[in-house]
This record gives sequence, structure tokens and C-alpha cells, in this order.
Amino acid sequence: MTAKPTTPKTLKPCTCSLFEVGQYGPDGSAESYEGNGTGCDRQTKARFAQGHDAKLVGFLVRAELAGLEISQIEAGTRIAYAGAVKAAQTVSEALAAKAARMLDGAKKKAEEKAAKNTPPAEPTTPGAAETKPATTRRRRNTPKNA
Ligand SMILES: [Zn+2]
Repeated sequence: MTAKPTTPKTLKPCTCSLFEVGQYGPDGSAESYEGNGTGCDRQTKARFAQGHDAKLVGFLVRAELAGLEISQIEAGTRIAYAGAVKAAQTVSEALAAKAARMLDGAKKKAEEKAAKNTPPAEPTTPGAAETKPATTRRRRNTPKNA
């Protein structure tokens, strides 16, 4: 562990507020990007405001399940991560492990649900008059508290 010479009394933004999730528009351009943060504006002496590490994990996991891109703004630059676990890993291994467990749980739930009620066949008509681009992935299987 390298102890950084930090001034413990300095308040800084809660780490959860540094992350953003979102997606690009159909053209995939940077201008089409629409993102959301956690909405946190807490200042804290620690890394997170109380309970916000858990809040961040939930936020990241929901984003991955929804097929959103997870990124972090660092010194004005957007850094994208390949999923909730990778993003959480930038904070700590413990947080990454938590994200992995949550993802596993959510995926299992989704699989169980899918196994119970077999969904109707997906419309696979090629060249149908669909206005939606093929890249639009929508998944709404993130049940909160059942
Ligand atoms: Zn926060």
C-alpha cells in the first residue's frame, strides 16, 4: 500500500459521482451520447459518502444489465469501462467482487424467469419495416424488490 499524502480534512466529491452511464445514438457519434450520473453531489472526507459504495455498485450493475456504457470522467476525459466489474475495480477489488456477485444474481434471476415463461419467438423478419436500428438493445429484466 502506498500511502498518499492526503490532507484528511479536505472535502472532495463522493466517488460515486464520478461515474456515468449512458449510450450513443443511432449514429454512434460523440455528440449523440446521452449519459446519467448517480445524481450525487455529496462532499466527503472519505472515498464515498456513507452507503454510496453500495449505491454505486447497484448503479453500475443496473447499467450493465441495461446494456449501457459505463464511464468515468477523469480530468475532463471520458474513460469507458467494459462492464460494471471493471468499473468497480477502479475503486477497489472488494467493490468489483460485489458487482460480480450482484451481476451473477441478476443474471440467474433473469434466466430463471426466462425458463419459467418461455418468451414468444423474437420477430426475425429480415428487412421488415422496423425503424429501430439493430444496435438498439433494450433489456428490461432488472426486477427490483419482488
Ligand atoms: Zn455518492
